[in-house]
Amino acid sequence: PESDALFRLENVVAGYGDVTVLRGVDLSVRPGEVVALLGANGAGKSTTCAVAAGDLPVTAGRVLLDGADVTAWPAHRRAREGVLLAPEGRGVFPSLTVEENLRTWLTDPGPVYERLPQLARRRGIAAGALSGGEQQLLTLAPALVRPPRVLIADEPSLGLAPLVVAEIFEVFAELRERGVALLLVEEKATAALELADRVAFMRLGRVTWSGPRAEVDDTRLTAAYLGVS
Ligand code: ATP
Repeated sequence: PESDALFRLENVVAGYGDVTVLRGVDLSVRPGEVVALLGANGAGKSTTCAVAAGDLPVTAGRVLLDGADVTAWPAHRRAREGVLLAPEGRGVFPSLTVEENLRTWLTDPGPVYERLPQLARRRGIAAGALSGGEQQLLTLAPALVRPPRVLIADEPSLGLAPLVVAEIFEVFAELRERGVALLLVEEKATAALELADRVAFMRLGRVTWSGPRAEVDDTRLTAAYLGVS
């Protein structure tokens, strides 16, 4: 039931200036659950992330964290209470090395290197010289050491090589294992569907269907993207 939700958007209306983009979005994520928010370009997925993270105010509706109304909380307060937006949530310092970046968050990068050998190999390299995927692993590294309560990942696989996407999704799987509530936003469904426990389809600023991953088949996927359902 919805009452198990750790994080919840309730009938959220939001937009930019006079333009309404979200027209009553309902969405909830439980601890240790991955919800994939899927939908075509322009459906409002990024706007949903911005509202969830506190980067964009709502014009109606509520955002709830563990039952508390956090609608009025700015992004930094939500982050402090464990609602993290990735990858933009915590940018890297491009001119600092991987090691120096990690040391701005952690006294001992050792556990990160153990878990992400790819970063260990690049420890002396300026973060700005990493591939997009490696930069994203670097931004996720602190979450592995101190998991957030809610992680909102906006298009984490966008433009990345399949191998590093697989690695990023392994990090998500580990965070789920550790009880994080994960909202995974993707335009392309494939990787997200493999990980998701529940799926929400978005179209024209609304969630048009949500349910268990097991109930999503090709017919439902096609319908969702074509706007039939
Ligand atoms: P995409 O994958 O293209 O980012 P999306 O589902 O994430 O799609 P949004 O980025 O949330 O969709 O965009 C939804 C609508 O809001 C689009 O019509 C877009 O043009 C509009 N929009 C997004 N950002 C802004 C902005 N800063 N100012 C005005 N309109 C915006």
